[in-house]
Amino acid sequence: MDYQAVIGLEVHAELQTQSKMFCGCRVVDSTTHEPNRYTCPVCAGMPGALPVANQRAVQLALMVALALKCKVAPESIFARKNYFYPDLPKGYQISQYERPLATDGHISIPTADAERKIRIRRVHLEEDTGKLLHRESGACERGASLVDLNRAGVPLLEIVSEPDLRSEAEATTYAKALHAILTYLGVNSGDMEKGVIRYEANISVREHGSETLATRTEIKNLNSFRALQRSLQYEIERQIVAREAGSPVRQQTLGWNEARGVTVAQRSKEHAHDYRYFPEPDLPPLQIDPEWVQHIRADLPELPAEKTERFRAMGLNEYDARVLVAQRPVAEFFETAMRAGAEAHPPVHAKTIANWVSSQLFGLLNTAGVSIEKAQITPERLVHLLALLQAERISANSAKQVLREMVATGAEPQAIISERGMDQVSNPEAIAQAVKKVLEDNPEQLESYFSGKETLANWFFGQVMRATAGRANPVIVRAALQTALQHKVDSSSPE
Ligand code: ADP
Ligand code: MG
Ligand code: ZN
Repeated sequence: MDYQAVIGLEVHAELQTQSKMFCGCRVVDSTTHEPNRYTCPVCAGMPGALPVANQRAVQLALMVALALKCKVAPESIFARKNYFYPDLPKGYQISQYERPLATDGHISIPTADAERKIRIRRVHLEEDTGKLLHRESGACERGASLVDLNRAGVPLLEIVSEPDLRSEAEATTYAKALHAILTYLGVNSGDMEKGVIRYEANISVREHGSETLATRTEIKNLNSFRALQRSLQYEIERQIVAREAGSPVRQQTLGWNEARGVTVAQRSKEHAHDYRYFPEPDLPPLQIDPEWVQHIRADLPELPAEKTERFRAMGLNEYDARVLVAQRPVAEFFETAMRAGAEAHPPVHAKTIANWVSSQLFGLLNTAGVSIEKAQITPERLVHLLALLQAERISANSAKQVLREMVATGAEPQAIISERGMDQVSNPEAIAQAVKKVLEDNPEQLESYFSGKETLANWFFGQVMRATAGRANPVIVRAALQTALQHKVDSSSPE
């Protein structure tokens, strides 16, 4: 039987505001700050404390909604989602349920055969929970679970797709596209290691050609693209095997065990009615002024799709344009380099820079395991190197070596070149001199050459390059060699 995977993603992204969603507490990096310092009666869930919606959070949420081409609801409603968890002191989470902030958007992603629209079902605002820290030992002999409420109440945006994704690869591409949009908008740091974006994957498998949705499972708390991709791959396979064996897939919530590479059942799926949603009585409906929406739309920065288009129009190929846009810091590095390239005399073209960034530089950064923001090399210095290459001051091979050293030390290309004596010799007289010497030093080879062994021309070329320690400009060497050999023919041939 031929099966098709059906996947919908729920993405939770923290919004980078100064203060929390419903109180004035500062938002801090919960991985580095002292626990429970940034709390107040509102986010600590004291009875009677009153929440007030954070306008900046609403603004950032609207930026995302508009970037995802959603319809913004003129009025949306905050609702209480009731459940008990130790990191949720109120006993409920303020979220949006029946009337979310925005609906009906989409993102275009490249897939194996074509560009495809993945529909966004809804975008809504909610608050993050606190964090649980499980200690093996410490406070007491048998260990303990500790609660840190610094994160409780941090603005969280939930973005829910329609079940439009058909493979783990498509799901990962979509997740990356969304990650790029959030970081381009500057609403989220994109630092997944800190858990600022979390994914939940809903997945079912149906017979190819079927239009109905099969029973799904949901994998919670995926914190990396790799975990998303691997867990989906595993789960698709697991569901297919189950169906082949005639055992039905049960609707359940799963966790991903990274070490063992398997999904594990956590609980049978809760239903919406288990949460006893009801409108939050302490918050008025969220009214959105259409003029404000207009302003936000007008102020949106250039988004990844538009940037890709612009890079394509500058002559970059599809692949280069995509890899240069995928991560904002890379795109920024490239754009700064392009500006420097345009100012160079003669200019260094965007295509040349793109080639060097996407092949050489990425390769070196990958090997070194550093990101472009943390790398020593500056865009201006990269362009300086490419200008030297373009002016034939160094060979392409030397340029690669210099680049390696620039990545390691951040040094000036010219300084490296001078120190290592890599300056390419382009002086025609010096090269003619070297050619002359090689021919004089090798009379036997010259003889064979004239008696018809023409391949020796390459050997002479090699000798000249060796004599100049590889620094001679190869184009000029070839020309000089040809002239010199021709000259010898002319002067030795009988009158
Ligand atoms: P809940 O909020 O209870 O998790 P939703 O109906 O809001 O459920 O759906 C959540 C996500 O699951 C959405 O991204 C949706 O596209 C996806 N989804 C729903 N049904 C299926 C299915 N049968 N197979 C795969 N994904 C599904
Ligand atoms: Mg869900
Ligand atoms: Zn607070």
